Amino acid sequence: MELHPSPRASSLAGNAVLRGWNLARGLQNRAGFRLGSESRGARRRCCSLGFGGPVRCSSETEKNPQLAAARVIYGVAPAMGHNQVRSDDIVELPTVKPASVDDLLHVHTRAYVSGLEKAMDKASEKGIIFIEGSGPTYATATTFQESLVAAGVGMALVDSVVDASRITQNPPTAFALIRPPGHHAIPKGPMGFCVFGNIAIAARYAQRVHGLKRVFIIDFDVHHGNGTNDAFYDDPDIFFLSTHQDGSYPGTGKIDEIGVANGEGTTLNLPLPGGSGDVAMRTVFDEVIAPCAQRFKPDIILVSAGYDAHVLDPLASLQFTTGTYYALASNIKQLAKELCGGRCVFFLEGGYNLQSLSYSVADSFRAFLGEPSLASKFDDPAILYEEPLAKVKQAIQKAKHLHSL
Ligand SMILES: [Zn+2]
Repeated sequence: MELHPSPRASSLAGNAVLRGWNLARGLQNRAGFRLGSESRGARRRCCSLGFGGPVRCSSETEKNPQLAAARVIYGVAPAMGHNQVRSDDIVELPTVKPASVDDLLHVHTRAYVSGLEKAMDKASEKGIIFIEGSGPTYATATTFQESLVAAGVGMALVDSVVDASRITQNPPTAFALIRPPGHHAIPKGPMGFCVFGNIAIAARYAQRVHGLKRVFIIDFDVHHGNGTNDAFYDDPDIFFLSTHQDGSYPGTGKIDEIGVANGEGTTLNLPLPGGSGDVAMRTVFDEVIAPCAQRFKPDIILVSAGYDAHVLDPLASLQFTTGTYYALASNIKQLAKELCGGRCVFFLEGGYNLQSLSYSVADSFRAFLGEPSLASKFDDPAILYEEPLAKVKQAIQKAKHLHSL
């Protein structure tokens, strides 16, 4: 593996601390969906967005060499206008350069990208448009610009962890707290609330710009990450591993979908039966995710972190708990440390119960920091029912057999 210097500003400014429930509160503000005028105004204080050229908010990142001192870094798009999340260990990317159209074209077709940009005029007239044939996906007048920022956050966080990994064996773990999400977006269009494939764009960017040839993508959203799946289905250098609820939207991701041509074997789909929860996912991590990653030997791990497998989430019926997400974050961070110099970036995907979403993301941050989980303050074991562990075991055995694990 060869590391190339980053062309993007990526060192981080500022040390800001936040612990305990301040974190959860801050994330509730940040990880929500209220994209009101306050948030957009707040971002404009530091960024103006436009097409076709680089946008710089300030040269803060270039001036400050403290990136490696952080233990967690995150980027937000859009910023929510509050800065409660401040800690020595947790820093927010102070600037975000939106992705360029060229960055998108490594994953999406030009016809789609330019078509969406043109559709913004219509969205301006109507306020909101629903995009035909894309499942429940809509656009507002600012969707195109905001989606460029979301993809740009992921790329900037790749820069940050790669740069940090050059100077420390414990680079910060990164988390792109972004909207819109991305893992359903297919090369030719948007899908399932997703506009651009943020994680796929970041994977190509890591290869192209940093020389990180082998990318391991874990997608634990309750839905199949069909967009990411399709983008790399024939690519032997990008391993895509998705766990999702069997039969849920969009219906793809069957266990025997394992890639094609040179990419055969570098896609692993593991549909889990409804009701699968903490025990199921911990077993999947130990028996499937970890051995797969160890065999693949990635240069970076990217994670489609969907929080809609939480038992309280209204869109599906898995039984993950806040504690499950803590364990996943902790285990994946450890895996990245063992296999790829700690280079690891999480991308926010689904999550539709704002309370379980915010608590689970906050607990993921605690896992990154090595702090104890506070899941027991939120999780209620009384609402859980028995997991279908016999069926889970069958699915795991089938995946292991198909992939010679
Ligand atoms: Zn989802």
